[in-house]
Amino acid sequence: MSETHTFDLVLRGGRILDPANGLDLVGDLAVAKGRIAAVAERLPDDAADTILDVSGKLVTPGLIDTHAHVFEKVTGRFGLNPDMVGVRSGVSTLVDQGGPSLMTLPAFRRFIAEPARSRTLCFLSAYLVGGLEGHYYPQLYRPDCVDVDATIRVGRENRDIVKGIKAHAEVGGASRWGLDVIKQAKRIADGIGVPLYVHLGQLWPEVEGGEAVDPDMLVEELVPLLDSRDILAHPFTRHPGGFISTRTGEVHPVIYKALERGLTVDVGHGSHFSFEMARRTLAAGILPYTLGADLHGYNVKAPTAGGGDREANPFYGVAPFSLTHAMTELLTLGMALGDVLKTVTSNPAAMLGMADEIGALTPGMAADVAVLEVKTGRWQLSDNSGERVTAPEMIVPAFSLRDGVVQEVDSPLLPKPIPVAA
Ligand SMILES: [Zn+2]
Repeated sequence: MSETHTFDLVLRGGRILDPANGLDLVGDLAVAKGRIAAVAERLPDDAADTILDVSGKLVTPGLIDTHAHVFEKVTGRFGLNPDMVGVRSGVSTLVDQGGPSLMTLPAFRRFIAEPARSRTLCFLSAYLVGGLEGHYYPQLYRPDCVDVDATIRVGRENRDIVKGIKAHAEVGGASRWGLDVIKQAKRIADGIGVPLYVHLGQLWPEVEGGEAVDPDMLVEELVPLLDSRDILAHPFTRHPGGFISTRTGEVHPVIYKALERGLTVDVGHGSHFSFEMARRTLAAGILPYTLGADLHGYNVKAPTAGGGDREANPFYGVAPFSLTHAMTELLTLGMALGDVLKTVTSNPAAMLGMADEIGALTPGMAADVAVLEVKTGRWQLSDNSGERVTAPEMIVPAFSLRDGVVQEVDSPLLPKPIPVAA
């Protein structure tokens, strides 16, 4: 800021929505030295070097994507460019879910987290190799490909970027080695003192000639292994082994017990978003705690993800999406705007143990801010089971601030809204 002005930047006249502080007002938000400096109904015209008019737009804490895959190059076709998923899509903070491992974390720090304009963190893979090619080869993820003690050590040494541990509980792995890997992953998470993020829903084919794994039994065995800070992911998956029992078509009773004990739910959108499963889960009174877009090189067209071989794409047919698009879907399913915002601001900040740094517009905190538009009309949403739903409101990112610096929204990954004729 200059000598004559109190602040560097003021966002003027937007609807400021900050669930953590219970704020919902039309007013001005000021930034100084990369930090939130003030929130007021009207700041003086000469308060800042730059005043940006954001009237008619929402001003919220910077969006946090709890499920990203941005370990570009190292994870092959799977990893996207961090800023395409992050600031260029209106998202301030990314959490790579299980891309880097104890072996590749230094490369993640040096070549991904440090150069990115987006705040880039991770849940460290429980496995030695991390999420290579999106966990394409199941033989790399067996119990003797885990080193509990070494992973604890690396996690402890890198707590600035390692915020949790990622592992999978699904029928393909369970048909080979039961839940042994999850038990190892839980020891790693406890040893570092961070949450364990558990992928639900089938990932790998079951082993040929083996005994079929009952997905309901798997969830029943899994939940007692976890505790209150752990996270169950992909509740809305249509693949077996999610929240909806394959026997009854209703939410599995053990899921309620898990939530009573304080476990939280991350949507992990990706190719695990079925409107029908979401409706059943929400109707049962279960709200997701965090959202997580779960974009990766197999489920969006990514100019830098290696291109080419769409034939071999196991997620073929998934329509383009983004974190804000996933927010629109939750809104369309009937969640209140304030509850949707919590899933991408205050709740993920708490999950990361960073609630005093990001996820709110509290003066003194990092000036990560999202400026969003809510357009009204009729837009087509679709899921990867082919269902189409008309959305009356569409959340679209306008721009954002990362540590007080304006970030334009120009990601080629952002879906183009599809209007529906009235
Ligand atoms: Zn994922």
